[in-house]
Amino acid sequence: MVIGRRAVVLGGSVAGLCAAGAVAPYFDEVIVLERDSLPADAEHRRGVPQSKHPHFMLNSGRRAIEQLFPGFEAALIAAGGRKLNPSLDAAYCEAVGWAPRKSGSMTMVYGSRILIERVLRDMARTLANVTIRENVVVSGIETAGAGTADGRVTGVRVQDEVLAADLVIDAMGRGSSVPAWLVAAGWSEAPVRSLDAKVAYSSMWYQLPPERPASWWWQHLAIMPNQKKGAHPEEHDYLVNFFPIEGDRAIACMGAWGLELPKKTDAFVEAAERIRTPVFAAAMKQCEQLSEVHLTRSTGNKWRRYDLAVDAPLGFVAIGDAICAFNPFYGQGMSSAARSAVILADRLSESTVLDRGFFRSFLDRQRKSLDVPWMLAIARDQGYEHATGTEIASPLRRRISAALVWPVFNLITAAAREDDVVEDHFARVFNLDESMTDMAKNPRVLAGLLRYKLKLMFGREKMPRSFDIQLDPPATDYTPDTTVGRKSATGTRKKAMAR
Ligand SMILES: Cc1cc2nc3c(=O)[nH]c(=O)nc-3n(C[C@H](O)[C@H](O)[C@H](O)COP(=O)(O)OP(=O)(O)OC[C@H]3O[C@@H](n4cnc5c(N)ncnc54)[C@H](O)[C@@H]3O)c2cc1C
Repeated sequence: MVIGRRAVVLGGSVAGLCAAGAVAPYFDEVIVLERDSLPADAEHRRGVPQSKHPHFMLNSGRRAIEQLFPGFEAALIAAGGRKLNPSLDAAYCEAVGWAPRKSGSMTMVYGSRILIERVLRDMARTLANVTIRENVVVSGIETAGAGTADGRVTGVRVQDEVLAADLVIDAMGRGSSVPAWLVAAGWSEAPVRSLDAKVAYSSMWYQLPPERPASWWWQHLAIMPNQKKGAHPEEHDYLVNFFPIEGDRAIACMGAWGLELPKKTDAFVEAAERIRTPVFAAAMKQCEQLSEVHLTRSTGNKWRRYDLAVDAPLGFVAIGDAICAFNPFYGQGMSSAARSAVILADRLSESTVLDRGFFRSFLDRQRKSLDVPWMLAIARDQGYEHATGTEIASPLRRRISAALVWPVFNLITAAAREDDVVEDHFARVFNLDESMTDMAKNPRVLAGLLRYKLKLMFGREKMPRSFDIQLDPPATDYTPDTTVGRKSATGTRKKAMAR
């Protein structure tokens, strides 16, 4: 049912496009305003510098976008996105060594951030009442009764034009000016929660070689930090990805908490040589370099808590990085944006007027949805002494966090390989379908972790724990063979492959 004449979306990136899809059925007209020129194809543009880095699309985000734009997954795959089974198709270099590979319940569609946006944009353009206006700078908001209980955002200013709107959606990203415009209009500033663990990303794009040796069976390479104290090369603390994207290309990415990262090609290649396993640098050497080094430091966790504001404006919502931006290591930004857009669509489908009740319940639901990625993102970041922001932990909590987070993560990932229930919950938490707290309280998960810990103590685990990272990751598939006795099948592989 149509609930208003016009919705205006500020910003035409992933969050803005998801928002346009969400509100289109409920307004006569939806206008998306984007500052950049929008390329016809998948290309980088000024307003989205992070597109040079790997972008994981979590399952909950993929599902949410599919809900907003039915056919999205198929379109992404048709455009070159690659649907993989990460636990089988990726080589994981964990703290203790290469993880054994096996088929898992989780799939992921890999593609570049620019491809994801292009597919979304093409789909948004097919909606008859959605207009995307490019090269348009939003320069302010129109308001009425700012700061009062009925205060409302009534439109936006673009160059010398005023666009009246029943709903204004801020999707202008981390640097959005809307919070400052709201304060200038007379609202008090919404409380901001923040935690910046000084994460940096350094990436280069590569063309994969047409022929690859048999030892290069993996599609995605992920290297965890070594998590050791004592002297070691700084590069051992990097979190590294060789991330597959469309066009038989990959993004080589080194990321770290609180460390300087290479800015130039030579330094990047040299740093790659010092990564914990030689496999990363060896893969890069076989590829053709496609780009210079891209470095990003704008990665702090930041949540503008409109839900806590005394009189949050009516006629206005914020989604994507404009309300909550995360440390990107957990791959949550696009998915959280899409989930907020689905909440908006749900609220619109249940409502007949855009009154205070509408906005209050949207903010409540959005807060609950954002709580899940937020808790996950700050849990590890709170362990870093150099982190700054409102959410820094007390010294005791920081020590607990620093001491526990990696070991617990390592235990869960190892146990998940042998215990389908632990695997399922871990995948659900990773994909934002379950909160970390709910998983931590689940008796079956706790029992599974304890059982696995005991197996480790008595050397009774079914799969080899790890393999030497100075060698290639083993290609053996440890997926339990259901046609023969599971024990004997894995036992045979174990003997064959353990090094
Ligand atoms: C290094 C890095 C790695 C990341 N990795 C992942 C990942 O693995 N998975 C994941 O899900 N997320 C990841 N993210 C986060 C992800 O990029 C964002 O959450 C996602 O792109 C959604 O962004 P957005 O649409 O909210 O904002 P943005 O993409 O920042 O877009 C904002 C848009 O607003 C436009 N705009 C700004 N000001 C104006 C104005 N005045 N007038 C008109 N238009 C304007 C800009 O041009 C831009 O198009 C990563 C982020 C970084 C920095």
